[in-house]
Amino acid sequence: MEVRQLVCHHCNVPGRIRRHGQARSGIQRYLCVLCKKTFQVSYIYQGHETNIAKQIKSLLAEGQSREQISRSLGVSLKNIDRHIYMLESEAI
Ligand SMILES: [Zn+2]
Repeated sequence: MEVRQLVCHHCNVPGRIRRHGQARSGIQRYLCVLCKKTFQVSYIYQGHETNIAKQIKSLLAEGQSREQISRSLGVSLKNIDRHIYMLESEAI
């Protein structure tokens, strides 16, 4: 089963991610079909990235565009998209 919403943490390509069992902690692991590397979604929310995800969420709620958010947070558009994908997959 492909997990369409996710973006690979290694090559940043969306839509080529499959579920790949669970880590000992019970966290879902994912495998990128393209680069064959695995990752865990929760990595993205560790450290200061948690704040960035929150900021993106609140700025989106204010109606700002991805470009505006990218400029105001100093985060690349690619990373903004990655966070948005994560926020959307979390909301399901
Ligand atoms: Zn990849």
